[in-house]
Parts: sequence; C-alpha cells; structure tokens
Amino acid sequence: MPATLAPLLKQYFGYDSFRPLQREIMEQTLAGRDVLAILPTGAGKSLCFQLPALARDGLTLVISPLIALMKDQVDSLTASGVPATVLNSSIQGAEAQRRRAGLAQGEYKLLYAAPERVMTDGFIQDLQRWNVTLIAVDEAHCISQWGHDFRPEYRQLAQLREHLPGVPFLALTATATAQVRGDIAQQLRLHQPELFLASFNRPNLGYTILPKDKAARQVFEFIRERPNESGIVYVQSRKSAETLAAALVAEGIQAVAYHAGLQPEQRAANQDAFIRDEARVVCATIAFGMGIDKPDVRFVIHADLPKNLEGYYQETGRAGRDGLPAECLLLYGRGDLVRNLKFLDDMTDAEAAGVAARQMRQMADFAEGSECRRRALLDYFGESWPGDNCGGCDVCLHPHETWDATTEVQKLLSCVFRIKQMGGFSTGLNHSVEVLAGANTEKIRNWGHDQLSTYGIGKDTPREQWMTLGRQLIRLGYLSASTDIYQTVSLSPMGRDALTQRSQIVLTRAPHQVSAGSSSAKVSRAGNIACDEGLFAELRGLRKTLADARGVPPYVVFGDVSLRHMARRYPVSEAAFLAIPGVGSQKLADFGPACLQAISHWLSGHEPQSFPQDEAAPKAAPKMKSEGALNASVLETLRLFRSGQTPQEITTLRGLSPSTVAQHFASAIVSGDLEAEPRDFYSFEDEQLIEQAAVEHGFDRLAPLHEALGGRIPYDTLHFYRAFRQRAQTPPSQSPTP
Ligand code: ADP
Ligand code: MG
Ligand code: ZN
Repeated sequence: MPATLAPLLKQYFGYDSFRPLQREIMEQTLAGRDVLAILPTGAGKSLCFQLPALARDGLTLVISPLIALMKDQVDSLTASGVPATVLNSSIQGAEAQRRRAGLAQGEYKLLYAAPERVMTDGFIQDLQRWNVTLIAVDEAHCISQWGHDFRPEYRQLAQLREHLPGVPFLALTATATAQVRGDIAQQLRLHQPELFLASFNRPNLGYTILPKDKAARQVFEFIRERPNESGIVYVQSRKSAETLAAALVAEGIQAVAYHAGLQPEQRAANQDAFIRDEARVVCATIAFGMGIDKPDVRFVIHADLPKNLEGYYQETGRAGRDGLPAECLLLYGRGDLVRNLKFLDDMTDAEAAGVAARQMRQMADFAEGSECRRRALLDYFGESWPGDNCGGCDVCLHPHETWDATTEVQKLLSCVFRIKQMGGFSTGLNHSVEVLAGANTEKIRNWGHDQLSTYGIGKDTPREQWMTLGRQLIRLGYLSASTDIYQTVSLSPMGRDALTQRSQIVLTRAPHQVSAGSSSAKVSRAGNIACDEGLFAELRGLRKTLADARGVPPYVVFGDVSLRHMARRYPVSEAAFLAIPGVGSQKLADFGPACLQAISHWLSGHEPQSFPQDEAAPKAAPKMKSEGALNASVLETLRLFRSGQTPQEITTLRGLSPSTVAQHFASAIVSGDLEAEPRDFYSFEDEQLIEQAAVEHGFDRLAPLHEALGGRIPYDTLHFYRAFRQRAQTPPSQSPTP
C-alpha cells in the first residue's frame, strides 16, 4: 500500500494542496494504469510522477527531450531532498559509474534519461535490473510529427513495452491539439489509458494587443516600466533578435539574444544568463522555449506576428508558470501578415502553403478581433469560456466603443452583391472596396464596374476603414470569403438577410482601431500576492547568493511565491517558516537559517506591514479543491467568491448576515476547500493579539477569547483565526472530502 500522498507533498515540496487533476493522475498511476495527462504549461505536471515515485518502492524512469531540462529538474528534486539522478551523454567515466552503482542499489527514486540513451542494449538490461515501476514520458508531444517539437527518437519508446512488461506509462504534455493527443496514445501503445484533460485557460495570464508602431520603442517602454521583472520578447528573424537585444542593452537593460544561428556555446551561455537572473530579457526567435522551466517569466512580448495561434498560445504560455500574474503583449500591424503571406510564395508544396496561409489569417483575425482574447483563444482549442468578462484581457478591461454601422454595412454588402449580379462572378474584398471608393483601375474599367450604382458611394471614407469593416463582416459571418488564393467575397445567407431587411447593425471598434493609445496598456495585476516589497527584494538577493553557491538557478532554491509569502508573513520561527508554501523539510534545513536570519534582521530595522484582505490573492482566482463535504449554502458562497464577489457583496447578494458568510469561509478553510491564508482576513498585529489571548483561553470557544480581548477583535476575525488553527491541525488529506 503506498504511503498517502498529502504528507509527502508537504514534507518534500512544502505544498498543502494539490493543483487540479494532480491527485487524480497520481492515484491512477499508482493503481498501475496507463495515463495520458494533458495539462497546460505551469499546471504542475512534473509533480504527477515525482510524488508517486516517493510513495512506492522502485525506480521511476523519466524520459525528457533535453539535457538542460533534465538537469534542472534533478537539481530541483535534489534541493527538495528527493533522491534523483540523470544519465546522458554529458555524464561519462567515473561519475557515470558511480550513478549506475547507486541505481543498482536502489539509492534513487527517479532517473531522468533521454530517449536515444534508453534504447541502447546495455541500458535496457540495466533497467530490467533496476526495478523500474513507472515510465513517465514528459513532453510526450515530441513523439508526434504533427507537433511542434518532433523528435524521431521518441518513436522508439514503445519498444520499452516488450522489455519492461507490466510497467505502466504516464505520458504528459501541454499540447492542445487533438491530432497530437491521438498520436501520443497510439505511438506509445498506451493500454486503455486514463485520459486527463485540463482546461487550457491560464487564469494568471493577461492578454493585450496593441497597434504596432515603432516596435523597438514600444518594447523598451514596456520593459522599462517593469524594472524588476524578467521576460521574453519573440521576434521573427535572427537579425531582429540581435538588433533588438543590442538596442535594449544600449538603453541599459540587461538583454541577450537567442536564435538557432548562434554558436552552441553562445546560445547556452545566453540561455543560462536568463535562467540565472543575470539577463533580465531574452530577445528570441521561436527556437527559444522548450526546456525553459523558469517559473518567474513575468511577461512575453510578441513584437512580430506569430505564424499561428497554436504557436502564440505555446509561447505566451511560458509566462507565469509560478501562478503569479504575468502579461502577454502582442504588437500587431497588418503589414506583418502581408509579409508572412509573402514568404509562402516560395513554398513548393501548395497544400502546405494553403494550410499555413489559413493559419496566418486566423492569427490576424484574432489580433484584429474585438472579442475577449481569452475566449477567442480557448475557442480555437475547442473550449468555451463560461464568463462574460474575463477580467484579464484588453478587450474586457477597456470596454470598447460601439458605433451604428448600418449605413456602411448596407453600402458594402450591396456593392458586393451588385458586382456578383453584374458579371456572375465574385471578386476580392480589395476590389469591392475600390469600387466603393470610385477608383479608376484597369479591372474596374474592363469589367464595367464604374457603371454600378454603388460605384463611388463610399469615397468619403478612407479605404483602410472599408477594408477593416469588410474583414469584420467576414469574421462576423455577413460575408463569406473563398478559401482559394483569390479569396473572393460573397454574401452569406446572413448577409443577404441583413441587406434585404436593412436590419440595424451595431459594431464594436477593435481596440487597435480606436487610437494608438499608451504603448503599455496595463493588464490588471489581480492575483498577485501583496507583500513587503523591500523585504522581497532583500530575499531575492539572498536567493541569488544561495543559488550561486550551489551552482543552480535561483528558482531551484525558492520560487517567487515562497519569497512573497515570506515577505508577507515575516516568519521568524522554524514552524512558521515551514508553513510557507514551497518549504519542505530539506529546504528548511538548508535555507531556513539564512532566511530566518535575514527576516529577523529586517524586522530589527523595519515595521512589519500588514496586508488587508482585499489585496490578497483569492479574489481573482481562488484555487478550489473538491467540494464534496460542504453543504450547498457554503458551496454557493464559494461559487460567488470564485466568480469574483467580495465577502461584503456576497452578504448583500444572498441576504445573509456577515457572520454567516464568515462561517461559510471558515468551514471551507478548515476543510481545505478554500486555499487562503491568514493575511487575507486579518492583520499581523491582530494575529499577535489573538495569539497571546489564545495561549491562556484556547480557541475552541470564541466567547471567552472575545472577552479577553476586550471586544477589540470582531467575532468574524476570530472565526477565521480558529479556522486557520484548525486547518493547521488537520492536513488536507485527512479532510473528509473524497
Ligand atoms: P508543467 O510541467 O505542467 O508546465 P511544472 O511541473 O513545471 O509545470 O510546475 C509549475 C510550477 O508549479 C512549479 O514551480 C511547481 O513547483 C509548482 N507546483 C506544482 N504543483 C504544485 C502544487 N500542488 N502547489 C503549489 N505549487 C505547485
Ligand atoms: Mg513540464
Ligand atoms: Zn477577456
């Protein structure tokens, strides 16, 4: 019987609760089933095989495509006290011998290896001796030709089934396309796999699209306004990567370039500088990305238009793995689309060029659209976004202008209609607009389109506006565009109805049509963990020192989430330090003394700040666990809270007393269904006062405590206090939820 997972999660990784689907995936894996887990970047896929490895006997073999990625994960595991190692071509001689000896003796719980290594004869024999109990295939989309990172070596992995019969497979990927998913299951010969598919929404990412206008300037200003944050700027060409990096360096920003044309050593050095927080920004082509597990990438900028939405999603997905807010900015100019399409002229494979062109247009439609970005993105992957306002994209945050477009739409639709009526054939949008504008072109003269009643009726409006309107009508379904290279437009049934019924049509202006506006429209920072920024900066410095001493990237020591909690709760005892998310027993032993000392030292010179509830994380995206054990009324309160209502608003909405709502929260805290922390509900000072009184009066009954405090602390606060104390005594695993 495997040990229960929750205590191991706390002991090794310092987390109190599972992220969505993690527990379910682990349970199926431990039950010996094949599992295919499709979760977005940052969802916490690694833990799905790392924790089960600790919970059972034997060795977990992890297949991973890149040496850098493997090394990073092994460093992180080692820092958390998990015995793990890696074998690859960079480890030779005595060191390799030592590791193999350790493996033979069962000293390690996890072994990372690249697929080409695994398939060699000697290695397979070793594996047969090493008591392998699970094979985890990370980045499993590498097996598919349809994916973006195809690696032929992955194709061989299915052979492991014969060599290690009965050992279950766990395949993991963030790939969102159905074709690739099917391919993974088939190629790995997964046996009746249990499929786990998470939402692809990334609630902590904010999306903004701005009109592109002197991109280098816009990028610089955006970065300058975020002085302590690191990020990635994606550009189209190797040359732009270099020029932009140089321009940023000239402005005093530590930036490096990354593209496939650099010498391997240079490339590795630049990537390393970024990962080790020595370069704040990397200007890169799409060659940069997979293998970057840096969790605190705070922004991803696309200075050029990505080639398709899948790429845009994957690249923006590299921001905010740690769950803290991060921003995705796309600079959009229609010229980029035209340029991308032009590159296709050189392609010999007409079918492939057609597919690529369609994807590029989809990408441009996304950028020009005036629909919620999140909804549009998820739509593309076949997922529907339930809310009205996502609260995290430029469209939702800056409600756009609407205008009565009835007259213009009538003009454009009837022009398209007349053209078809006259000659029996349709033309491209551009030609229809020239007719509207009363242009004198050869085509117009040849086809006699200057005789149409619609000729010149739109000459008072700039052609670019007609084009924008036309594209909008295609997107909205009033016009349909042919998919051949001519892209002729004709009226759809809906367009015909609109024309004959002269129905009123109100359109929104896409943000990029309104005005150039600020170069860095800020997306809301809801969900950030408010903390003492001074202490946070201090702790970051300490983290870098500790990391350098070990030769690991800073985030291997602690993530920003841990540091922010430290700079919010000011732990000065080991027990308090252990309660910080991300602090397990190994990190407590290794880094606790230095951190505690730094915090005490800070407190000797600074007043601790307190952080009121409304600034705290749960409002934007409270993380919920299964809610089985709570009654319906509590669940309703939680549902409202999750949809963004404050406790006060919930009180009014539901017509309940504040103390009832407070008790709802309290019971959800105790059960572990609401992931919140004391600072969300009361200040550090209040906590100290209650703590003192509780020493004498306990906290089981609140009335004596309330009295002892002279009534200074309201009952609601005491309810919360008690809830946190009770939760501390009941680890989430023992809560009655299934
Ligand atoms: P993925 O492989 O799905 O992109 P990772 O495994 O790299 O995601 O995890 C992303 C981040 O989430 C890591 O920093 C990890 O420590 C953190 N994480 C994973 N599981 C949990 C959890 N249960 N609670 C808190 N943080 C977690
Ligand atoms: Mg991963
Ligand atoms: Zn939105």
